[in-house]
Amino acid sequence: MAKTPKTPKARAIAPVIDFHTHINMPEVQAWIRANARGTRRPRPRVSPASAAFQKRQDATVRSRSTDMRARIRDMDRVGIDIQVISAHLTHYCYWAPARLGLEVAKIFNDHAAEIVAAHPDRFVCLATVPLQAPKLAVRELERAVGLGHRGVQISSRTEDKELGDPALEPFWEAAEATGLPVYVHPHGFTNTERMGEYFLWNSIAQPLEEAMAMSSIIYSGLLDRYPRLKIVMAHGGGFLPYYAGRVDRAFDIRPETRVNINRKPSAYMRKFYYDTCVYNADMVQFLARKVGVGRIVMGSDYPVFLKEPDPVAFVKKVRGLKARDRRRITGGTAARLLKL
Ligand SMILES: [Zn+2]
Repeated sequence: MAKTPKTPKARAIAPVIDFHTHINMPEVQAWIRANARGTRRPRPRVSPASAAFQKRQDATVRSRSTDMRARIRDMDRVGIDIQVISAHLTHYCYWAPARLGLEVAKIFNDHAAEIVAAHPDRFVCLATVPLQAPKLAVRELERAVGLGHRGVQISSRTEDKELGDPALEPFWEAAEATGLPVYVHPHGFTNTERMGEYFLWNSIAQPLEEAMAMSSIIYSGLLDRYPRLKIVMAHGGGFLPYYAGRVDRAFDIRPETRVNINRKPSAYMRKFYYDTCVYNADMVQFLARKVGVGRIVMGSDYPVFLKEPDPVAFVKKVRGLKARDRRRITGGTAARLLKL
């Protein structure tokens, strides 16, 4: 008698999915140039050397955001079946007044839908929403899902609110209702006074932002109120998973950490998903042990210069994984999250 399988029959081969890629859309950049005059826009304070390098990178990113055939050739070269495209970080526009924020999100989401429609077997898109105006963000999220977008990307905070702020509750409620993932990817860091040199505003500060975003989500009790939320953290969740012991110790000792939650922070860390954009294969091995291998999706940060150039080869370098677990990371888990 044949054995009953323990899990439902999986599709024969999961597609290879890069969860972490960006599009720098000329239509959005044109909108920003036309509308941002006179508004206070946050920009990281960077050194002249860093700014010059950035200019060179921007040209490459632009070319890979408009020439989708070149993008697909890059994907084929490293064995990527599907890219999950998200907005370039400058496209968040949380600095804009609510109505304008909605307008620019619509521009991105509409053009992204055209890209996906032209190459439906190679790209899926995460929407962008005006998170500074939660009610409008809900409206745009629902419209974007109607267009076929497979989730939403947000930054690690709005201009003045952390992600666990009660004002953002309508957004989280709507995001949970979609059943689709929320990808948290920060845009730089809010206080760059000490981070202008050596590209620290990005290399050190973004992982700190991710730790901040996760902390706000965890300590506010959001994951208890919306237990079906599927939150994917960029860059392996930044620093927080590696400091689980310290925050758990604080939870045990300090009552002010337990106001909204009754489980240790590390228990909540196992409720997030994480991408593999951490550059050291042994970090992915650590993360798999800490949060579970089923919580990890492959992501490269294509096409920025800091990207992992061959994310599939990178995942192959992670020790201690069974072939089945590797397939979950390179696409199985992402396919399930994105409902592909
Ligand atoms: Zn990125």
